[in-house]
Amino acid sequence: MTKDSSQLKVLIVGGGYCGLTTAVECRLRGMQVTVLEAHKDISKVGDTIDFATNAGRVFNKWKNGEIGKKLWATGGVTCHTIDMFNAQDVLLCSLPYERGIHVPDTFSARRGPMAQIIWDYAEELGVKVRCLTRVVDYVDTETEHGVITESGEKILADVVLASDGSRSKAREKLMGLKERKVNSGYAIFRSLFELTDEDRRNPMILEKTKNLTENWTAGWVGKDVHGYMFIFDNARYCSWLFTHLDDADIGESWQLPAKKSDVHFYLDQAKFPQVWTDFVNLTPDDKISDYKLVWRDPIKTWLSSTKHCAIIGDAAHCHLPTSSQGACQAVEDAAVMAICLDKAKGDVPLALQVFERIRFNRSHVIHQSSISTRDVYHKHEWTPELLEEYPESLSMAGFEWITDYDVQKEAEKHFDHLAQDVRNGRKGTIEELSLPAGGTFEAQVKVEELRVGVNSQQTVPPV
Ligand SMILES: Cc1cc2nc3c(=O)[nH]c(=O)nc-3n(C[C@H](O)[C@H](O)[C@H](O)COP(=O)(O)OP(=O)(O)OC[C@H]3O[C@@H](n4cnc5c(N)ncnc54)[C@H](O)[C@@H]3O)c2cc1C
Repeated sequence: MTKDSSQLKVLIVGGGYCGLTTAVECRLRGMQVTVLEAHKDISKVGDTIDFATNAGRVFNKWKNGEIGKKLWATGGVTCHTIDMFNAQDVLLCSLPYERGIHVPDTFSARRGPMAQIIWDYAEELGVKVRCLTRVVDYVDTETEHGVITESGEKILADVVLASDGSRSKAREKLMGLKERKVNSGYAIFRSLFELTDEDRRNPMILEKTKNLTENWTAGWVGKDVHGYMFIFDNARYCSWLFTHLDDADIGESWQLPAKKSDVHFYLDQAKFPQVWTDFVNLTPDDKISDYKLVWRDPIKTWLSSTKHCAIIGDAAHCHLPTSSQGACQAVEDAAVMAICLDKAKGDVPLALQVFERIRFNRSHVIHQSSISTRDVYHKHEWTPELLEEYPESLSMAGFEWITDYDVQKEAEKHFDHLAQDVRNGRKGTIEELSLPAGGTFEAQVKVEELRVGVNSQQTVPPV
């Protein structure tokens, strides 16, 4: 049955970047959108988040660029480069890190305030956001598609999009996937704090920020560790991230307050330079957390058996931060999903299948890179000479095939022929039926093969 978009009821589970962006994009096309969020408001967890152009240009189209301006007004990380060092503090390279005012369509700032702006915009457009509404089960039969909430309420819609993040319940309840071991073997110390007046007089801060006139960012790689530091928003905030080995059982806890002594233990083991000790000492005691890094294997399909429901964002492809693209790929999902639902004119299974074929290969390759990049960082003794041999190896998501990709243009361009394939019942594996990924991480893989013998282009295991 042909349905105008304005008749389409879209139910989104999870108000993270993926759910909120999907809500905005669907609502902009006239759909009736409800978001169910377990918590009472936007997650305050986290520090800074970086949106490259492939995601940033989606935000920047909203309200003629007004939302982009608001996102930037939250105080961005505006540096031209990230200096990368090894554990001995030897400068390896200066990676381009053009953001915001330097490059349109890029956003790098504090997570919470940026997410709040998107949340507010979704509500302004007429998206119904229901907080404190935890989904505990899904309904997905030939006639009904929806969710059951913790309070026992059944909510039905034409399409259900589960963007419930890395701990997704939808994977089990909707997709029938068994929980797999998710501990990546690593955890990350994270910190974000506002510099005090006293901090801003600290000689180290003054030196890094050229007397508070510039922001500053740098990264270090060592054996089984890496970390970044940022001073941003006109030298108002400091944030740092330090990835380290973790042997704890992931099931026990996901995010814990961390003690400085824990951080110092790993810094000492890694023989990281004094600047790290100094920054950790500057950090308020209650502003450090230890976050278990979660990894899930790629899966063969993101669609439920009826093809009226899908998992998207981290629920579908949970990245490690080393791809630097987890949220960007979630935004790509959101943008493609809205276009497909709009163009399919009420044929939800068609929309979802085309969505999957546009997104699958690209998402898969970038998802896998979060593991391979981490290994490239951790498993080599980086020197300027080695980097000269493999110059692309420390650049995270900087490849043009990732950042220059205009996801909305691509979705518009490919919808019709992929829809034709679906209607014609074209046979093949999901990799064969989907658009090509558009690029590889070959420059890194070479180093991996040479030194570690691991190939980042693993195949997708069967579900
Ligand atoms: C340290 C770190 C740094 C990162 N840096 C970057 C970066 O710079 N750039 C980048 O692109 N990516 C980055 N990422 C990845 C990025 O954070 C994630 O990929 C992204 O946040 C995923 O968004 P999401 O909306 O899919 O999931 P989430 O942000 O996890 O949102 C899921 C939402 O669903 C809600 N929810 C969960 N279960 C239920 C339920 N049962 N019922 C109702 N609601 C529910 C949750 O409360 C939450 O609000 C980083 C990740 C980490 C850990």
